[in-house]
Amino acid sequence: MNRRDAAASGTAACRGVAAHRPRVPALRACAAVGLAVGLIAPVPLRGQARYSGPAVVPPPSAYVGDPSDVVPGHLSRWELEPSASRTLTVRFESPPEDRPDFWQPASRALDVWNTVGGLPVTFRPAAGVEPAEVEFRWTHHFDESHAGTTDWTTDGEGWLRSVTVTLAARHVDGTPMSDEFLLLVALHELGHALGLPHSDDPSDVMHPGNRNRRLSERDVQSVLRLYEAIATREDNQ
Ligand SMILES: [Zn+2]
Repeated sequence: MNRRDAAASGTAACRGVAAHRPRVPALRACAAVGLAVGLIAPVPLRGQARYSGPAVVPPPSAYVGDPSDVVPGHLSRWELEPSASRTLTVRFESPPEDRPDFWQPASRALDVWNTVGGLPVTFRPAAGVEPAEVEFRWTHHFDESHAGTTDWTTDGEGWLRSVTVTLAARHVDGTPMSDEFLLLVALHELGHALGLPHSDDPSDVMHPGNRNRRLSERDVQSVLRLYEAIATREDNQ
């Protein structure tokens, strides 16, 4: 099965949870009254701001479900057997002639994911002609407003077998992608290479319009949950 995902290069739509703002005007009114009263009689004053809007519900700590909810085939990821950890080899195709350092941001993105403590899957650049599980390719630009895509293949059980990440060297209007933007896109696509789905929170790297150069706590917890599920399942076998 070959699926495709694309990260949009346009401005991310704001779909975050609106922040709860207390009713500041009411609070200010209380304070003003309190000050006036205080000038007359030094009695203790109490202010109270009441919020009658909907309850503020903190977002879940991860966008991948509890390990017990994650079943093989539901979310594709890398099989860890026979050992409890796995190093994925990564190959970068030759960079564009006019940009020999094109892959530097993607290399930095590998390092970012490799710093997730406790994650049993890490990336390593392939040496020589060694087979690679993750291939990085580039294209001049995508016809749509995409900056990167991730294609992957899985076996019959849903385990990832190969991943190809394609990064655009230029925006659809011909403007070169900045190193900063290439990093943002590579970070996001590598999350898919690990098996992560999209997040609907713009503060996560796995939001489709990622603008974060660091993994959020939710990114970290989500990928740990993804692979914790395998460890739990294998421990029980
Ligand atoms: Zn994506």
